[in-house]
Amino acid sequence: MLKNIVIVLSFLFISCQGNTQEKKEKTAKKTDTKEIAYAVSKTEEEWKAQLTDMQFYILRKAATENPFTSELLDNKKDGVYVCAGCDTELFKSETKFDSGTGWPSFYQEIEGNVAYDTDYKIGYARTEEHCATCGGHLGHVFEDGPKPTGERHCINGAALKFVPSK
Ligand code: FE
Repeated sequence: MLKNIVIVLSFLFISCQGNTQEKKEKTAKKTDTKEIAYAVSKTEEEWKAQLTDMQFYILRKAATENPFTSELLDNKKDGVYVCAGCDTELFKSETKFDSGTGWPSFYQEIEGNVAYDTDYKIGYARTEEHCATCGGHLGHVFEDGPKPTGERHCINGAALKFVPSK
């Protein structure tokens, strides 16, 4: 009987160890993603000097602009939307659509130039998106967009600059 109890206890001990180990690994992974070395990397002071206040709070502090305030919201010209922080091409004008939300919206990103993370800021998981080159926060992506992707990239206009086609 005592032997059985010892076996059960050892088993519990081992499985707890297992969990702790797993948790440690997950925490480490999370930290790793925050410490990604971006190709364009600047200090807070350097970003502040380069960007407008609005761009700084959105790109570097993950703030959100008020809806219907971006001059890019109704822009229908041909061209490409680039990162306001580092000029990386992020969205093509042909993927822009009117979502009715008040934020510039696209159904597709320029693949490889946008990176994703999970954000729990408002109590539930949302997919946050940021520039893959400088890490600047852009907005969020949702699954209620139009065809062909069904994605709605809801982007702060202040995080973007528009470069018209020649
Ligand atoms: Fe960028």
